[in-house]
Amino acid sequence: MEDLKKSIQYLKGIGPKKFQYLNKINIKNIEDVLYNFPREYEDRGTMTQIKNITVNEKTILKVKIAGPIQEKAVKRGLKIYKVPIKDDTGNMYAVFYNVPFLKNILHIGKSLVLYGKVQRSFDQLQIIHPEYTILDEKQEDVGMNKIRPMYSLTNGITQNDISKLSQQVLDTYKDSIKEFLPDDTRKLNRLCDIQFALSNIHFPLSIQDMKIAKFRLVFEELFLLQLGLWLIKIQMVKNNNGIRFIKKNEVDQFVKSLPFELTQAQKKVLEEIQSGMENNKPMNRLVQGDVGSGKTIIAIIALYQCVLNGYQGALMAPTEILAEQHYEAAYNLLEKLGIRVALLTGSIHKKKKEGLLDQLKSGEIDIIIGTHAVIQENVAFEKLGLVITDEQHRFGVRQRGVLASKGCNPDVVVMTATPIPRTLALILYGDLDISIIDELPPGRKKIKTYCVAKAQRERVYNFIKKEIELGRQVYIVAPLVENSEKIEALSATDIYIELKESYLNEYEIGLLHGKMKPHEKEEIMQKFKQGELQVLVATTVIEVGVNVPNASTMIIENSERFGLAQLHQLRGRVGRGEYQSYCILINYSKSAIAKERMKIMESTSDGFIIAEKDLELRGPGEFFGTSQHGLPELKIANLFKHMRILKQAQKEAKRIMDEDPMLILEKNRELKYKIIEKFGKMIEDICL
Ligand code: ADP
Ligand code: MG
Repeated sequence: MEDLKKSIQYLKGIGPKKFQYLNKINIKNIEDVLYNFPREYEDRGTMTQIKNITVNEKTILKVKIAGPIQEKAVKRGLKIYKVPIKDDTGNMYAVFYNVPFLKNILHIGKSLVLYGKVQRSFDQLQIIHPEYTILDEKQEDVGMNKIRPMYSLTNGITQNDISKLSQQVLDTYKDSIKEFLPDDTRKLNRLCDIQFALSNIHFPLSIQDMKIAKFRLVFEELFLLQLGLWLIKIQMVKNNNGIRFIKKNEVDQFVKSLPFELTQAQKKVLEEIQSGMENNKPMNRLVQGDVGSGKTIIAIIALYQCVLNGYQGALMAPTEILAEQHYEAAYNLLEKLGIRVALLTGSIHKKKKEGLLDQLKSGEIDIIIGTHAVIQENVAFEKLGLVITDEQHRFGVRQRGVLASKGCNPDVVVMTATPIPRTLALILYGDLDISIIDELPPGRKKIKTYCVAKAQRERVYNFIKKEIELGRQVYIVAPLVENSEKIEALSATDIYIELKESYLNEYEIGLLHGKMKPHEKEEIMQKFKQGELQVLVATTVIEVGVNVPNASTMIIENSERFGLAQLHQLRGRVGRGEYQSYCILINYSKSAIAKERMKIMESTSDGFIIAEKDLELRGPGEFFGTSQHGLPELKIANLFKHMRILKQAQKEAKRIMDEDPMLILEKNRELKYKIIEKFGKMIEDICL
């Protein structure tokens, strides 16, 4: 196994340049080469004879070089090299562009396999700039693999480079590749062995073999992921050093004193959190609840219970705006009960901050609410007992770990509005217990959602004038547009300028986008919150949790360019007050799928349905990149496409855990090492 950790720099054909390029795409050692799977395959079918060639089609030929290479300069910077070739049935040419070194390697009489498009030029057949393999004598009959792997490339690296590298590694290191899946697992799930899998994922002799290989590798990846996550969870469950937070009467009284009654769903989730707080195991819980479902109040109640037990609590938000919002909510409810709440963000003055840090350390502050600033090294607590992070998809597992490490086994709750289909939550959050708030507070007016075509833009802008006249405020959201993208999409800046000069020239308009400095963003957001701006033109920076109840309308330009889940998050910024709210999607696309997606937005406001439909129509997209959840990267498995294999892998992982929960049996030894290798870092992070 150790061999596979050797650097690729000792392989044939890897000079310093290529080494660097390959490093860039994370190919550093032998194992990386093996696990750098082809993106797709090109099935080249059977060899064609020259007399049977069809012009203008891709063709694979086995030929001999029939004469000297003819070199011709066509124009400045373009040289062509014509190579006469033949087989038993005819003669033709292979034409290459700008490859002077060919003269040194393509000698008369050599055998070649060529793959490329054939054209007729005057009366000559020519295969144009084909891929080529030179066959040495021994190989005469072997030919080029008909099914060619196609890898993801980077600058300076060709398909041929990677193919050769994979071939070399498979030839040289095959014996070092050791099976780590237990025999039972392979038998029960009909999985091929690891050597077959790795050989055939790169160089399959048939599509069938490739599929067998792929099945094993997808299964392997999902199985290891699930097993690893469960092992992490078990480690945590074994830990009995958590804090017991007793539920006090004051907590019930506090809940009763709220201006509203908790929904059934909130009550259920609060109970789950409380029972986690009461037992002696450190809690790690994910609270999932759609936009507006009322997660914040649950967090505040839990923090209160923590403080009543003599501990400090922390609530961490992904942006300053959100942190401030939470701070205001908590302060207003708790200060009068004698709880000392403080706000800690990056923009707080140095002097004041130092004071805050001292008070945190000495225990004078009970609840700290803030941004990333809360997890900086210089922040120390007297007695940290509960850590809550909001909108967790912005925080990695790592950061969660860092904060938790500031207390002695504190309880941890992460809250997210990202609607994750239930089937997936298990794997994405395998290390957490899950609570779901699946109900909105009563009396919410449904946000009226309309999708319109680009031609109706003017009418839309006339409509919002009326809303503004009624005293309401409006968000206008534009997609992120790279300057290089030559597409018909409006950037936030374009729209801002356009509106200022036309439809909305009599109103105060602000612009908010990701390239602005944090304090500039804060300033604009504050102005909007305070009603100094009537219209806010923004990119998706406003996606996360901002609360401006007076904003009643959201217009989304180029709505077809957003994921549905993202549109849903965006839409959740309106409908937060007493007013009827509107979301108007301006669709620039004529495609049927785009129209269907917008229809879904019009017809439902259930985040889970939207997420699932979106997956169906669009595939996973970047919305669910596993990297943002801090999980090991998936190289071949796709959590959505391979749902069936995922379930099978989960079942198998469960079977193993039931039989050997700590993986101590001899037959599971290699498997255990593999998991430690993959998850070591994360186990450290979480179990700090
Ligand atoms: P989110 O889950 O999106 O973070 P919030 O916690 O911001 O939602 O809650 C949205 C709004 O709903 C807040 O103004 C909050 O005070 C209010 N709210 C929360 N729970 C209830 C409830 N049970 N009844 C009525 N209003 C509620
Ligand atoms: Mg929230």
